Amino acid sequence: MPLSTLTSEKSNSIESRGSRHSPLTLATPVTTLKGVGPSLANRLARLGLCKVQDLLFHLPQRYQDRTRVAPISLLQKGREALIEGEIQLCELRPGRRQSLLCSLSDRTGKIFLRFFHFSAWQQNLLTPGARVRCFGEPRQGAAGLEMVHPDYHRLSEDRPAVTEAYLTPVYPVTEGLRQSSLRDLIQGVLKDLGEEGIIDHVPSGFLAGIGLPTLSEALMYLHQPPPDAPLDLLAEGKHPVQQRLAFEELLAHHLSLRQLRLRTSCLQAPLLSSEGRLQQRFLATLPFPLTAAQSQVAQEILADMAQESPMQRLLQGDVGSGKTVVAALAILQAVEAGYQAVLMAPTELLAEQHLRVLQDWFCPSDIKVEWLAAKRTAKARRESLERLEGGETAVAVGTHALFQEGVNFHNLGLVVVDEQHRFGVEQRLALREKGRYGNSCPHQLIMTATPIPRTLAMTAYADLDTSVIDQLPPGRIPVATAVASDRRRDEVVARVRWACRAGRQAYWVCTLIEESDSLQAQAAEESAAELAEALPELRIGLIHGRMKTQEKERTMAAFKSGILHLLVATTVIEVGVDVPNASLMIIENAERLGLSQLHQLRGRVGRGAADSYCVLLYHGPLSELSRARLACLRATNDGFEIARRDLELRGPGEVLGTRQTGLPQYRVANLMRDQELLVSVGQVADRFQQRYPAQVASLISRWLGEENRYGEV
Ligand code: ADP
Ligand code: MG
Repeated sequence: MPLSTLTSEKSNSIESRGSRHSPLTLATPVTTLKGVGPSLANRLARLGLCKVQDLLFHLPQRYQDRTRVAPISLLQKGREALIEGEIQLCELRPGRRQSLLCSLSDRTGKIFLRFFHFSAWQQNLLTPGARVRCFGEPRQGAAGLEMVHPDYHRLSEDRPAVTEAYLTPVYPVTEGLRQSSLRDLIQGVLKDLGEEGIIDHVPSGFLAGIGLPTLSEALMYLHQPPPDAPLDLLAEGKHPVQQRLAFEELLAHHLSLRQLRLRTSCLQAPLLSSEGRLQQRFLATLPFPLTAAQSQVAQEILADMAQESPMQRLLQGDVGSGKTVVAALAILQAVEAGYQAVLMAPTELLAEQHLRVLQDWFCPSDIKVEWLAAKRTAKARRESLERLEGGETAVAVGTHALFQEGVNFHNLGLVVVDEQHRFGVEQRLALREKGRYGNSCPHQLIMTATPIPRTLAMTAYADLDTSVIDQLPPGRIPVATAVASDRRRDEVVARVRWACRAGRQAYWVCTLIEESDSLQAQAAEESAAELAEALPELRIGLIHGRMKTQEKERTMAAFKSGILHLLVATTVIEVGVDVPNASLMIIENAERLGLSQLHQLRGRVGRGAADSYCVLLYHGPLSELSRARLACLRATNDGFEIARRDLELRGPGEVLGTRQTGLPQYRVANLMRDQELLVSVGQVADRFQQRYPAQVASLISRWLGEENRYGEV
């Protein structure tokens, strides 16, 4: 019997099994396991443990070594250990909280055991002379090392010392669920199932080449590691048995996205081909030629649109690489083919800017652009909606929130979503549903400036094709970036004055950790007031998320036309804002923002021909991590490099905003740590899908759950 069940509390361990009539399988509900009553079942359910399979995949967070008895003299503070000795003394200690204090010694030394909660029964058990085995973490007490509330077990003839054969797993638990109950439950299930019962959905042939063990080997090892298991490796998640599970999990997610892609490709989409008349006219009026990268991705996109299955393409391009032009080309192709197209942006500010740009570009071809904004009169909105529904206008721009409600199209052929770096599978699917008629749906182009390393993109966007604009328009000069303490604010203000006097314009960005719009707005208002006082000769504008659309529009227009010298703003200007004459940006409290966000912000300058500067003001003292992050921005302007560093420093969840991206929360895998596996995952997925299509569904539902599979099409 495991020591853990022999603590003073009454044990409710499951002693025997096998009275169930049908044999145990992975699908057996936990409620039919011996010893699992309604209240235990409830607690298990809280952890998502409903079936035997769930128990097996509920993996230990760490391990305790109860396989060997440590000499007391060798105990170290903070390192859990199993000890055995004789009680020398046991007495009540008064104090702020009364405690029971015992001293325990073996031949090598002495340690105290301290209990704040104890019963008379316990007190009697721990009398001098009793031999006791204890497991706990030694801490520094007033009179030497002590263990507070150790697991313990008084040895006697009928209860001799039993040494564990395996390391003891410590599982994630929930309130009211004891480690020992869960441990016994899992151990029992492992024993009853046996190796054959643990069905491996990945044929071993696939794994041999990668050198990973079978599923049952992996699970047996993780729930019952041998005494000499490498704990450090296990703690890092790099043990081959863990890698085996990580591999399987990544494979399951990958296959699920592929299925989604496959189902999508079976859908119909309007065939949007054209002679390119509108595109040619547009390109002829553009004041610049396309970069080679822009032409290349435009071709990829236009070719997709000329297919009868829906395009699902992600267009990545660093800040300022010129994605909007590419979007315009795609829109024109849809229009020439006789269909409607929409462009959606995440913020109103950006949507507005797109509206302006598209109106400007499309005006020579007499193509009207419909504007779907929140703050329009009901009448104006209704008229817009009618024109879209009747097919009178071919192009619409707005925030994606606006497309969720009551908008119907005459014949929507293309949806372009801009700057959705926090965009997940679920949202992508929801958007597609928007333009769906029966079996037909529009082509979708998703644009992002958050560059995602290739291996990660394969996983996060395995259902999408990817195009990358890997060059900036010629003549861009990298933004010179400086990092400065906010104690040097006066110098920075002087620099703003100087730049504006020289005819340049500047941004002053206020940041707050709080997501609250009103607090952000307040901070920006305060900064604007201070700056107005310090720089009376400059015309200063203010823009934040709480302002009315018209007010924002007016301010943006004034800044764009050069009437305003300095624009004080919240991070609402993060995406897409394009004012080439602005060549200086100050970011306050830069240490609060993520690297990619800072890079986005900084991308607002360096758009014209002038040398551009960005000053990252921080409020000290800086942590190691913040220092490293700011240094990275100073060192490079390359969005891919920054994304890579960000990933290293913060992990993919943070970078991609796991929850919003729909980038899955992995149970075992870690995209950063397990990057190397991703390559084999892609290769195995191909063969697996071809040779074992029947197993694919089982594997997916094992890891993603039945209901969690990426949308049925
Ligand atoms: P982003 O990829 O960040 O959305 P934009 O589409 O806003 O970039 O383009 C940034 C700026 O570069 C705009 O002012 C745009 O007019 C300009 N631009 C785009 N393509 C080119 C090009 N090929 N040559 C010169 N300037 C360009
Ligand atoms: Mg853009």
